[in-house]
Formats: sequence, structure tokens, C-alpha cells
Amino acid sequence: MPAATNLAELEADVVRDLALIAHPRMDWLEAKTSGGQPVLDVLIVGGGQCGVVTAFALLREKVRNILVVDRAARGREGPWLTYARMPKLRSWKDQSGPDLGIPSLTYQAWHEAQFGAAGWDAMTLIPKELWNDYLLWFRRVTRVPVRNGVEAGRIAPTRTDDGLPCLRVETSEGPLLARKVVLATGQEDAGRWWMPDFVAALPPALRAHSAEDIDFRALRGKVVAVLGAGASAFDNAATALEHGAAEVHLFCRRAEPQLVQPYRWLTFAGFLEALHAVPDAWRWRFMADVLGMREAFPQDTWDRAARFGNFRMHVGRPWQGAQETHDGRVAIRTSEGPFLADYLICGTGIRMDFGSVPTLSAFAGNIARWSDRYTPPPEEADERLGEFPYLAADYAFMERVPGGAPWIADIHLFGIASTLSFGPAGASINAMVYAVPRLARGLVRGLFEADLPRLWQSYQAYDEPIARIDPGRLAAQ
Ligand SMILES: Cc1cc2nc3c(=O)[nH]c(=O)nc-3n(C[C@H](O)[C@H](O)[C@H](O)COP(=O)(O)OP(=O)(O)OC[C@H]3O[C@@H](n4cnc5c(N)ncnc54)[C@H](O)[C@@H]3O)c2cc1C
Repeated sequence: MPAATNLAELEADVVRDLALIAHPRMDWLEAKTSGGQPVLDVLIVGGGQCGVVTAFALLREKVRNILVVDRAARGREGPWLTYARMPKLRSWKDQSGPDLGIPSLTYQAWHEAQFGAAGWDAMTLIPKELWNDYLLWFRRVTRVPVRNGVEAGRIAPTRTDDGLPCLRVETSEGPLLARKVVLATGQEDAGRWWMPDFVAALPPALRAHSAEDIDFRALRGKVVAVLGAGASAFDNAATALEHGAAEVHLFCRRAEPQLVQPYRWLTFAGFLEALHAVPDAWRWRFMADVLGMREAFPQDTWDRAARFGNFRMHVGRPWQGAQETHDGRVAIRTSEGPFLADYLICGTGIRMDFGSVPTLSAFAGNIARWSDRYTPPPEEADERLGEFPYLAADYAFMERVPGGAPWIADIHLFGIASTLSFGPAGASINAMVYAVPRLARGLVRGLFEADLPRLWQSYQAYDEPIARIDPGRLAAQ
């Protein structure tokens, strides 16, 4: 098929491709109610790339009674136009994912349809605004139903009118009922942005986490201290420099910056497909090591900050305390002596904290963690990572103490916290072609199993002949 030369042609290709692979075409789920209210088959919380692509995978399985909700306004889902403070994605441009293997749905096909093959060749990395536009296009052409401006909260068990288990999810627009809930809530799926207590205790006007909304214009002429040496810390340092900060100092605990990106090593089919199914000892060994590192920064990220003469990186110099001074600055205590700054930015990532997440708070105490299920050898121990949830094969929560909240088996976590159990999965592009179909298969299996008595009745009542025969030709024995 010749390559599409505009989006209209590409969208026609998408329609044709999806029709060619639509087998099996039959709808198989029955609409349910609870207290007379409609029940969704699957409610997906989070309309970023993972939520939208999960919905697309379900539509392909003819699970159509679904809804995606996102608290953000349309087009503002995920980090791309808010706190992702880099001009371009850091991942390879030809890394496919949302397309789930359908060529006309790839980023490259979308890019070439608008900018030609030469435009694709000339581009090194994907500008984040274009990635965001692509995700919006993707969700339109795949007809994924998304309702923006809806924040999901507490989840509790209930039943459908015909007795099946289902869930009641409180939202900012009233309760929604669903047989299954997928939490595709990105980085904050099971925890909260973390900074040292002594930084959090400072007045908000003097400090921020890198994921917060920061008024960089106000940092003009100021001394900015950034904690952390992952890619996000660098992006925030560079943004401050570009906005005219007088000096930007980036502090990292380790003596050497992290230059090797383990995610590049592990991006091969065996790892992405099969890590989740190997014994815990191997899952932990690989993923605890990967997650124990800071995310390495690529060349572009370093160059963006290093081209400024007023940028300095301090390695092997952790922060040990911080105090506001009498003139409204911050005195930071570091391992190598004090440091005075006007504003602090922490690129210090996420910590698991189930109780702080509104969708998890009702059952936070009964979510099985890795520390409940696996004890690593002492040299591989890591208390922080032990707090990650220990998920079932379909990404569902498991109970810490069986019997207390069995209904959490219908809540599937597809954000960053699924990474320890599965390797890259939720909150990732590079594993999407493996991780999303795996999740969709798990959801289909759960919906099917719960419906077996009805399906048995349906099978027994099935009486549609596929041929007409002449009864006179049947010889009785
Ligand atoms: C700064 C940054 C840069 C990144 N750069 C890259 C990159 O270059 N290449 C790469 O491969 N990966 C990158 N990643 C990793 C990953 O691709 C992104 O995090 C991506 O956004 C993950 O998609 P997601 O759908 O899982 O989560 P998100 O895109 O974060 O979407 C989650 C959505 O859930 C919504 N939500 C959360 N809680 C609720 C609630 N209670 N109710 C309703 N809605 C809710 C949020 O509003 C959000 O829109 C980056 C991550 C970050 C944080």
C-alpha cells in the first residue's frame, strides 16, 4: 500500500486496517445494572497514553461498554504540556507502542502523512508537543471514549442487579459503576512526589518538586539549587537557566553521574514479554537494580544545561538539611559544607504511599507489597522498593491478608508502580506493545470467568441453524 500523503488518507488506512483484523466480530458482553444504574464493563482512570491505548485494546476485544476519565482538560493529560520540561522525547523516534503493531497507527505513519518521509528522516527525536498531538489524534481515530475534567476517588465494592461483583467509584461528577477498574494514573498511581522532609518543611515560595507548576520567570537573577541528577532534574535546571537564573547548581548524592540508561539495555522482546513470568528472585534482581538507579540523562539534556557558564553540577554532595535565612533565602547543609540559594527544586521522584492516593485509600492497608511476598538476599535488599505493590498476573491488586478485601482483584494497576512486578509496563511507551495486550487479555479473562453461568445458559439456548435441510431426506434408523 503506498504511504498516505495526508491525514485523511492515513485515517482511511486505519479504518481499513482495523476492519481487516476485526475478527472475532461478535459482541459477547451483556449490559448490567446496579440499583437500576448502568454498570460499565471497564472504567479506566487516566486518559494519558496508557489509559487510551488500554481502551483501544479493549475495543478490539469487543469490550465496548467502557469509559476513560481524566481529571485534566482535553489535551493536558500526562506530563507532555505541563511538567515534562524538555523540548523532545528522550526515547528513540521509531519506538512504536500505542499502535499495538498496526502500522497505520504508528507515530511514524502520522508524522510522515503530514511532514513527508524527508521530514521524518530529518527529525532526530520527537518534539513533545507533536507526541501530544499524535496521542489526541490516536484517541480520535480509534474512537476511545474519554471524559475529561473528571477526578476519580474512593473505590468500594458493590453488586450488579444479577449478583455479579462490581465496583463503585466516587468521582467529581458523582459515582460511576464498573465491573473492572484500571488505574492508568501514571507516576502518581500508588504514591506521591517525594522530597526530603527538611525541604518540604520550607515555605512553598522557596521550594518545589520538579513535577509541580513552577513560575520560572520569577527565578530570573536568582540562585537555584536542584537536588537529583536524573533527566527531570536536568530539565528543570536547564529551564531555570533559560529563564535567566543567575546561577543553577545541581547536587547529586553519588560521586559519578548516571550516564548508562538501563532501559536501553532491557528494550528487547524477551525482557519486555517474559520478565513478568519468571521467578520473583529474578524479577526483583533485575527491576530493583534498574529502579534503584536514577534515570540517566541523554546527551541533549546535558548539553542544554552545560552550554550555560553559570551551571554547575556538584557530585558526591548530598543535602543533609535546609533552613530559611532571616533574609528569605535558604541555607542548605551539604556533606561538603553550607550552600546558600534563593530557590530549591527537587527532582527526587516518587515514593510509594498507598494511603495518600484517593483511589487506593479505602484499601491501602490491605494491598500486598513486595516486602510481604519476597525477601531478597541482604545484598539486594531495598526497603523503598519493598513498598511497591506485588501485583497479580493481570495487574490486579492482591490482598496482604486474604479475605479482608477480595474485591480488589477487580482493580488493575497500570502505572509506574506496576514496574517492579512486570518490568516496563504502565507509564511506559517502549513496553506498550507487550504490556497493554497482556492487560487487555487479563481483563477479558476476568469478565469472561465472572459471566460463565450466563454464558453457559446462552450456549444452551443457542439454536441458530447455519443450514436448511429437507427433513424428508433424513432416514430414521
Ligand atoms: C517528565 C517525564 C518525561 C518523560 N519522558 C519520556 C520520554 O521521553 N520517552 C518515554 O518513553 N517515556 C517518557 N516518560 C515516561 C512515560 O512515557 C510517561 O510518564 C507517560 O506519560 C506515561 O503515560 P501514562 O498514561 O502511564 O501516564 P500519564 O501520561 O501521566 O497519564 C496519567 C493520567 O491520569 C490522570 N489521573 C491521575 N489520577 C487521576 C484521578 N484520580 N482521576 C482522574 N484522572 C487521573 C492524570 O491527569 C493523567 O492525565 C516521561 C515521564 C515523565 C514524568
